[in-house]
Amino acid sequence: MPVLACRGLRKEFGGQVVLDGLDLTVAEHQVVALIGASGSGKSTLLRCVNLLEELDDGVIELDGTDVSAPGVDPDLVRRRIGIVFQSYNLFPHLSVLDNITLAPRRVHRRPRAEAEVQARELLDRVGLAARADAYPDRLSGGQQQRVAIVRALANSPRLMLLDEVTSALDPELVGEVLTMIRELKADGMTMVLATHEMGFAREVADQVCFLDGGRVVEAGPPARVFGEPTEARTRQFLRRII
Ligand code: ADP
Ligand code: MG
Repeated sequence: MPVLACRGLRKEFGGQVVLDGLDLTVAEHQVVALIGASGSGKSTLLRCVNLLEELDDGVIELDGTDVSAPGVDPDLVRRRIGIVFQSYNLFPHLSVLDNITLAPRRVHRRPRAEAEVQARELLDRVGLAARADAYPDRLSGGQQQRVAIVRALANSPRLMLLDEVTSALDPELVGEVLTMIRELKADGMTMVLATHEMGFAREVADQVCFLDGGRVVEAGPPARVFGEPTEARTRQFLRRII
């Protein structure tokens, strides 16, 4: 059973159709990269999966459960999904440790000591143990984004959604975040990432999905999609950006 199955997703904003019957399936331990022009709906898709946007039509299943059905508590779904956005949105008035433990303590009702032990372990694994008590503004952009990823991991998610997580970073800080994503993949985390870093998508993704016109126009292993795209629209997109 796939971790995530999206079928026939439709989303409009004021008459503009952004997702137009989109299908996407993500198997356990798989890394799926969403590529496509700016405005092609990558962020909207991720936001729909996390139930931050209401669908106009379609079904989203998480571990075989329809989470798009009426009456489903979005908070219960979001606890099983970690999402990280382009601009690291850490709480500026909380230390790194408090940023990470906030949801485990408030939402999952875990005791502070236990949440902090887990947070320090996660920070240690990504080489940020020494920054546990620092405030976000004392960290580099790359460190802040790594903390944002750790914060998403602290809920032990089934699925991680990463939306252009390196786009706001200075070029020299991109590498440390990409390394962290590589390590997550090695740990078997199931991930869907929107990216315009084609080199990274090629290296880390098991499956690349090219979005255009509100649908996945072409999907396949990166070597195939980048090397021998079958769709004219994919070829045109890749010609423009590579
Ligand atoms: P991408 O992430 O691929 O660049 P987005 O999902 O951000 O694409 O946007 C797809 C389209 O949906 C764009 O035309 C964008 O302007 C529009 N859009 C996204 N969110 C909203 C919103 N909340 N209200 C109105 N239009 C939106
Ligand atoms: Mg986007």
